[in-house]
Amino acid sequence: MTQIDKSKPVLVTGATGYVAGWLVKQLLEDGLTVHAAVRNPDNAKKLAHLNAIAETAPGTIKYFKADLLQEGSYAAAMQDCELVYHTASPFFTDVKNPQKELIEPAVNGTANVLESANQTPSVKRVVVTSSCAAIYSDCTDCQNAPNGVLTEDVWNTTASLDYQPYSYSKTLAEKKAWEMQKQQSRWDLVTINPCFVMGPALNPHSNSESTNFLKQVGDGTMKAGAPKMGTGIVDVRDVGNAHYLAGFTPSANGRYITAAHNTNILDMALTLQDKYGKDYPLPKKAVPKWLLMIVGPFVNKLFTRQFIRNNVNVAWKADNSKIKKELGIQFKPLQQTMEDAFQVLIDNKLV
Ligand code: NAP
Repeated sequence: MTQIDKSKPVLVTGATGYVAGWLVKQLLEDGLTVHAAVRNPDNAKKLAHLNAIAETAPGTIKYFKADLLQEGSYAAAMQDCELVYHTASPFFTDVKNPQKELIEPAVNGTANVLESANQTPSVKRVVVTSSCAAIYSDCTDCQNAPNGVLTEDVWNTTASLDYQPYSYSKTLAEKKAWEMQKQQSRWDLVTINPCFVMGPALNPHSNSESTNFLKQVGDGTMKAGAPKMGTGIVDVRDVGNAHYLAGFTPSANGRYITAAHNTNILDMALTLQDKYGKDYPLPKKAVPKWLLMIVGPFVNKLFTRQFIRNNVNVAWKADNSKIKKELGIQFKPLQQTMEDAFQVLIDNKLV
């Protein structure tokens, strides 16, 4: 049982991020003081959405310069905090050197933040943004899981430096976090493990893979069809709330699969048809698996034959009962998540 004093500041690493934005918003609206750790506090464009929220919310935001790869750089931001949210991690799939671009910042960065927690006597709880990527790589992993469903007991054993290195980085980073937590007894650890996050971006120019994916749904890239590739989906507002609840629920513990709907890429895109189908070149049908096997590897680096074989026309299934029961979360409907996300792109002329 860990009780967090709301009069103390709360640290959010990677505060500029798509997911972190909604968490910071909720903390500021609750009147808290947020220590926002960012790589560049002088980048006004990246902070504009956070400053706009802070202007009207009862809470206060203070920026601190920190980098995952700079040892000790989170110490100042963590001063006096009882609660630390570690959301910062590189999230992109187009990488040349996965060890340097993904593994090192994710794993060494987590160790860096947690080492500062070890050095900061006020810290009582750390909430790490992990991912369902630390649980599985491919939909075939769902089928191979006990009862064909991913649960918090499952760990990703199929990602590697050569195959799905982002998933590998999240797996190694979460393992590192649990390892370091077990070596001490002052702070406890809770991990939020979201599946694919979708929903409105507070910063419409965010470079998150979530926003990049939705742009491709709306800009004609998938006009000929979308892959029926199994995935989970969760609203970014619910992910922000999940972090909030994981921080302030005294009994929160362990990993939390944060996934609202078991679906696939085509069905996600089809939810936009009614409202936007007339005006935008949205996908209407599935791209056949055999066609993807031929053209996929040329279109997108991620779409290797192994990836297509293991994910297209294969269902994704995860059990989200733990977070609903223990944190009391209620997830938004898929339709609302997709429409609200797409509307942000339209309003900002990004599709
Ligand atoms: P995002 O918008 O790209 O945010 C990533 C954040 O990490 C940014 O604030 C970025 O800072 C920061 N960062 C990256 N490298 C850094 C470094 N070397 N030092 C300090 N900060 C660094 O992506 P997101 O979707 O919000 O992802 C946030 C977290 O959620 C990540 O841990 C990701 O793995 C996890 N997640 C995301 C999804 C999803 O579908 N979006 C699903 C599951 C889990 P800059 O602004 O300076 O670049």
